[in-house]
Amino acid sequence: MGLSKNDEIEILIEDMGTDGEGIGHFNGFTFFVKDAVIGDTILAKIMKLKKTYGYARLIKVLSPSDNRGEPKCKFYRQCGGCQLQALQYDEQLRFKANKIRNNLKRIGGFDDIPLLPIVGMEEPYFYRNKAQFPIGTDKTGKPIAGFYALHSHNIIANTDCALGVSENKAVLEVILAFMEKHHIHAYNETNKKGLIRHVLIRKGFITGEIMVCIVINGNELPNADILVRDLCMISGMTSICLNVNKENTNVILGNKLISLYGPLYIKDFIGEVSFQISPLSFFQVNPVQTKKLYDKVLEFADFNGSEIVWDLYCGIGTISLYIAKYVKKVFGVEIVSQAIDDAKRNALNNNIENVEFYVGKAEEVVPELYKKQGITADTVIVDPPRKGCDGVLLDTIIAMAPRRLVYVSCDSATLARDLKYLCANGFVLEKVQGVDQFGQTVHVECVVLMSKVQK
Ligand code: SAH
Repeated sequence: MGLSKNDEIEILIEDMGTDGEGIGHFNGFTFFVKDAVIGDTILAKIMKLKKTYGYARLIKVLSPSDNRGEPKCKFYRQCGGCQLQALQYDEQLRFKANKIRNNLKRIGGFDDIPLLPIVGMEEPYFYRNKAQFPIGTDKTGKPIAGFYALHSHNIIANTDCALGVSENKAVLEVILAFMEKHHIHAYNETNKKGLIRHVLIRKGFITGEIMVCIVINGNELPNADILVRDLCMISGMTSICLNVNKENTNVILGNKLISLYGPLYIKDFIGEVSFQISPLSFFQVNPVQTKKLYDKVLEFADFNGSEIVWDLYCGIGTISLYIAKYVKKVFGVEIVSQAIDDAKRNALNNNIENVEFYVGKAEEVVPELYKKQGITADTVIVDPPRKGCDGVLLDTIIAMAPRRLVYVSCDSATLARDLKYLCANGFVLEKVQGVDQFGQTVHVECVVLMSKVQK
């Protein structure tokens, strides 16, 4: 029987791909089905057919897998944010550990992988300290806040993302009611009219401080004092501001901030280190797991207090500042100059003096400091973006031959590629540890310890 588009087929989901899609077979074809879980038998409709594989849409779960859980969010299939809500959390962790293992095996060529049990979250929902909601208008002309449907800019109204804090809903309801009452329009991406584009909300998990930043297509918000009064009824409200973004762009924030209430930042802690976080600053979105991640870095690095350490791709210096008191000196390198401004200010606020920060590409700054100034390192920490480390940087690290290298990664595929290169050039893979920072999604962080082969 030949298969064609729109056919409905019954398949058993036997595996899950790296993006969380269910994988099953039918008539010699491999099918990929979003939102289907390993162990499910499903009815699926064929959406696209290639020579040996196809994509199908989940129509109905005929016999649910034992691994299925109850998704907390009713929009999880429409929203691009979560991929694994239908999977029980323990199974999500197993999926993530497998993903790391498979990448190290297939891409890295490692057989004997020193993979430690993954560090999970105690509460795999409500963990994000930051949320950015687009604001739009529904068919009746009422303002709505929500999220973009997968692969589109259609806003689905939902003020209650299950990954975020409960205050998000309260803040959005105040803002939407204010907009309605004072006839303030949401920005319309098509005709570029309307005022309010996005609402950014942040909460300090340790301090309880809340920040609200309203992104506007203009220079002022009429009746802002009334909005401020209403928002201040929400417990923890610390900083309210406007962000001006009049550009025709998908970038959410502009550069200009206008304070409406309180300072232009909130404070929070990771461990004992305090951070000032502005709406424009990068800050780890899951501070609870970030602390666990950094504690793993400390454990793997096993400092004795005498080390010179390089923290490459250091962002706002969170790792540098976290480890500073355990070592002699830290050099942080980061490409974004505002992040380095934050890093320096946070060092000052915490009275941390043994850190030095450099702006630039790690692959340019590190060779420069090493070759021209002879600065070496006992321990190197890298925490690159998804694309992994630059080749020039890896070559410089190999030449510098630090005793230890701690690699923090948010993409185990590029991690595997880089580890393979390092192991071919004098390093040994000692430990690999997954840390889940993003429950319900397919993302997983990894900390790896490598040591230099002693000649
Ligand atoms: N270590 C930090 C941030 C890691 S995210 C923390 O734990 O919070 C990765 C960082 O690498 C980002 O801040 C990004 O701006 C920076 N980056 C990207 N390419 C870079 C490059 N070529 N050189 C230096 N930093 C870079």
